Amino acid sequence: MVCWFRKISRSEFKAYINELNLEENYPEIICVSFITSIAANKIEQHIASIRSEGFPQYTLTPKGEREQYTAIKFIEPFSEGNLSVFGFDMYTEKAAQLAMDDAKRSNALTLAGKASQISESVPDPLSGVRLFLTLYRGGVNQANGITDNFLGWIEASLSFSALIENILLNESQINVAIYDDTIANGESLLYSSKGTSQQTIELPFLRTKQLVIAQRSWTFVFSADNRFAQTYDNIEPSIVMFVGGLFTVLLTFLIWTLSSSKRRAETKAAAMTRELSETEFRLNVALSGAAHGVWDWNNLTNEVTYDSKWKSMLGYADDEIKNEFSEWQRLLHPQDRERAEAVIDEFISGKTEFYSLEHRLKARDGRWLWIVARGDIVSWTENGDVARTIGTHTDITSQKSLELALRESEQRFRGVFETSAIGIALVGLNGEWIKVNQSLLDMLQYEEAELLNLTFQDITHPDDISSDLAQLKALTAKEIQTYQMEKRYFRKDSSIIWIYLSVSMVTDIYGAPIHYVSQIVNITDRKELQNKILHQSTHDELTGLPNRRLLYDRLSSTFALSRRYNRPIAVMYIDIDHFKQVNDEYGHDVGDKLLKWLANKISFCIRTSDTLARHGGDEFVLMLTEISKPDDTVVIAEKIFHTISEVFSVDNIQMQVTLSVGIAIFDPQSSDSIDDLLKKADLALYRMKRNGRNGFRLYEDGDECSTS
Ligand code: GH3
Ligand code: MG
Repeated sequence: MVCWFRKISRSEFKAYINELNLEENYPEIICVSFITSIAANKIEQHIASIRSEGFPQYTLTPKGEREQYTAIKFIEPFSEGNLSVFGFDMYTEKAAQLAMDDAKRSNALTLAGKASQISESVPDPLSGVRLFLTLYRGGVNQANGITDNFLGWIEASLSFSALIENILLNESQINVAIYDDTIANGESLLYSSKGTSQQTIELPFLRTKQLVIAQRSWTFVFSADNRFAQTYDNIEPSIVMFVGGLFTVLLTFLIWTLSSSKRRAETKAAAMTRELSETEFRLNVALSGAAHGVWDWNNLTNEVTYDSKWKSMLGYADDEIKNEFSEWQRLLHPQDRERAEAVIDEFISGKTEFYSLEHRLKARDGRWLWIVARGDIVSWTENGDVARTIGTHTDITSQKSLELALRESEQRFRGVFETSAIGIALVGLNGEWIKVNQSLLDMLQYEEAELLNLTFQDITHPDDISSDLAQLKALTAKEIQTYQMEKRYFRKDSSIIWIYLSVSMVTDIYGAPIHYVSQIVNITDRKELQNKILHQSTHDELTGLPNRRLLYDRLSSTFALSRRYNRPIAVMYIDIDHFKQVNDEYGHDVGDKLLKWLANKISFCIRTSDTLARHGGDEFVLMLTEISKPDDTVVIAEKIFHTISEVFSVDNIQMQVTLSVGIAIFDPQSSDSIDDLLKKADLALYRMKRNGRNGFRLYEDGDECSTS
């Protein structure tokens, strides 16, 4: 079986260990690690590669020069206590070194007892008993003697106390001590049920037994104090039997643990092999897809076998491509050559862990195809040189052109966004500003960070919020595609600007809203001009009063209401007496000032619901609402006469102004039109002029006769 991976990945390792569910199934296992062996000249590279996985602090411990290096590359559980072991060179510890060598030599499960120098160099998690198993590419125990397939060791640290305590020796009067050597001393003591090494000589009852288990010698010492000896003095044979029985139980237990550990390790290896086969299978399936071509590169001879798919992908027949590395070089786009060769060199020399590269290859018809190249080293020579690399070339031309089109459109959008004179913003579903362009910031006088802290609601004029939110709701519900509105924003200095807003919504591929895009144009100037023009067209320039047009508008709406609610209204025609003389005597300017003075004076005599308009020349029309009886108009007329009885004084000129006023009251029950009403007021005025001026007069039937 060709294994496509030159390494086990961290995630794969984690997955195996997780599958074992150590904590529950094997509580005596402190941790399981993968130990890799590293050539002396690859140390820096090894450290850099692990650091690049997201462990910037990673380093190899202990420091110092030696012939052979190993490192704990993965450890599970990767928890706080075990972290100290990450990067530890287990091979520096004597007992481990022997066991690791043994494991490699014999391809069997080996065991290292307690570390020889626990305190300083060996981290705590490894101070128990350690089991080693060699791991080769393609599984355990597979490639005996083929060094280039050696991956490293799987190591399990076991807590011996946990093992023994499971058989509850602590409560016994008999003390059991286990030494991982033929010599029973404090150095080699692995376990003692009394917690410390026994002063065996003083104890009256003592049995020692040596055994070889898992290729190591073990010494078991059973002892008991006087109490025990006295109690059982007479029955020593049975004690011997008892102890012998206990010993057998312990031994059986130990052998079971070790053998089952081996079984577990082998199960793990089997699972690993299975996963690799599945990956290989998946890879084969993936390769059978039309877009992949496979290449197989003999790095020693530079011979490359390209499969037929590779050739047909580029439009070549099987016999048109030679089995040479130079064929790929020949078809490679000149602009991609330098980078492609650098990437391959880095990978082959081990500087990078993965080989993945995009480049162009020339098809037989002259088109440039975008290719993604992936590959991995499959075998090494005994010297550690790369011997064979296999990989794929995949045609990604269509994805690439889509990608380019997307990038172009993104760039275009970014260009528009950044340089647009219009304010553009991406707005979140709750109204928060997500991204805003400079034009919008300038318009609102905010710094970017300040505005991104606000929502559009925060800066919208309260009178405009509800209509904006209603439209936004319809947009979100997809009842409308887009909406536009004129509204007001508060700038940072609280001044108000008018803007024209156009909003659309961006959704994900499932149609769920992601955000809104708002385009914002400052229309304050236009709005002010519009208002000015509107005002000009409806107001008299000299006095600022409504003009004849606006008067007629108001009259018609008031007329309708008057009829509907049966409320009478009245109009007054007010004309300055002998105004021509003012113009003639003092000039037009003084005449103008008099008109303004009068407009102002009369305005003070009326209610806001009334309308005073300049009808033309020196003639004003006053529309009075809320008239319940004719006398109400008289009161107002008298008020006006009273107020203009004041002397008009301007430019050292003083004069007494008099007016003639004609009044007509509209009876909602009558069939009179607006023109009829105005005509009646005009007739009354005319009559007043005829009657000598300086006074007011209510229209009476018959007034029209006086015009004839
Ligand atoms: P009467 O008592 O009959 O009303 O006589 P009158 O002199 O006031 O004459 P009338 O009301 O017929 O004429 C109004 C004059 O007002 C005519 C015109 O020269 C003058 N006039 C019209 N518009 C303006 C204006 O905007 N400014 C000034 N200064 N004079 C105006
Ligand atoms: Mg006049």
